[in-house]
Amino acid sequence: MTETPLLSVARRLDHCTVLGPGNRAVIWVQGCPLRCRGCVAAETLPFEGGTAYTVAELADWLCSLPDVEGVTLSGGEPFSQAAPLAALLDAVRARRPGFGAMAYSGFRHEALRRGDRGQQALLRRLDLLVDGPYVAARHAALRWRGSANQRLVALTDRYAHLTDEPDTSAGVELSLETDGSLSWAGVPPTPGFREGLEEQLAARGFVLHTQARREA
Ligand code: SF4
Repeated sequence: MTETPLLSVARRLDHCTVLGPGNRAVIWVQGCPLRCRGCVAAETLPFEGGTAYTVAELADWLCSLPDVEGVTLSGGEPFSQAAPLAALLDAVRARRPGFGAMAYSGFRHEALRRGDRGQQALLRRLDLLVDGPYVAARHAALRWRGSANQRLVALTDRYAHLTDEPDTSAGVELSLETDGSLSWAGVPPTPGFREGLEEQLAARGFVLHTQARREA
């Protein structure tokens, strides 16, 4: 019997313009082995929790989104679930060959290149990588990154031109979910941004949504 690969997902978003080039879907995986001080996604760090999806379910979802040019894999640590994510990109590209792929990782590119088979497979399927841990002492408002040690590594020609463009913050985006709750995405331009945003919204009666929900 063939095992169905599962992915543990903290959250997903079907449209985002601040976590990579163009309009993208975003998957935040659940679980990260690192503990960067000031991590903006604390709820995604435990490997327990999250919502389990099969690769086929996520591939169907990505293929159903007509206006996105690709997906950004964030977290959590995408390379802790590298093999099923590589399988996901294969499944999507079997139907949408031009689908772009970008990922964040707390590990350096050089370390990932020496990683296990699944990590090397995921790396081979990415167009763009943001590598390295968030370092609060080096916080910087850079495009798609939160600290100056993090690099934007073009792994294919698809987005290689972007590394020559202005390296400034892409900002954050607020989304209104179908159930009326709010969520946000992006790399905070200033330390403590998330806490400040949550306080301001709470004062106005809004609660930010941070967890994945299974719609079906
Ligand atoms: S690698 Fe990313 S998700 Fe993991 S602790 Fe660091 S900032 Fe948070």
